[in-house]
Amino acid sequence: MSNAPDRIETLIGDITSLSVDAIVNAANTSLLGGGGVDGAIHRAAGPQLLEECRRLNGCEPGQAKITGGYDLSARHVIHTVGPIWQGGKNGEAEILTSCYETSLRLAAENACESIAFPAISTGVYGYPTDQAAEIATSTISRSLVDHLNIRSVILVAFSEENHRHLLAALGRAED
Ligand code: ADP
Repeated sequence: MSNAPDRIETLIGDITSLSVDAIVNAANTSLLGGGGVDGAIHRAAGPQLLEECRRLNGCEPGQAKITGGYDLSARHVIHTVGPIWQGGKNGEAEILTSCYETSLRLAAENACESIAFPAISTGVYGYPTDQAAEIATSTISRSLVDHLNIRSVILVAFSEENHRHLLAALGRAED
């Protein structure tokens, strides 16, 4: 088994196009769909995803819930709710850390070997992308030690800037 950082890769693109066991959705507490990556995932998965989400009774910030992937190539969607950035002194980092931890735990419990994450909270929720990238990479590296069945974690950036922050947080040179 390769060590944790070797199992993390990055790419720039649309998370809904990936053929992985699970993609993570940056959802809101209602789990009833929204804009950004949430809207893109619901559009690509089709209406059955919303039907299943209605039965979940929402989700607290820092927690995660799993559904099917329906029309997506991904087998599952793991819906997690990131913190809304309020300046950084309201537990934002702890909540974001918990998003990555609980999503990976759910993935492992559901026998997912590959999982892709968007940059949770860095869109409408306003989390600074450099700080969010640090939390994503450090939390995933730490958690993967406990989840040896997860072979591959893809960090999906939606902009060049976000991708640069991910590479910097991983200590990797730009390609
Ligand atoms: P949040 O409310 O958690 O901030 P957003 O969906 O607004 O969630 O944004 C989270 C991140 O997902 C942002 O960096 C945004 O650019 C990115 N994003 C939006 N659409 C997609 C997509 N189709 N694939 C991957 N990332 C996306």
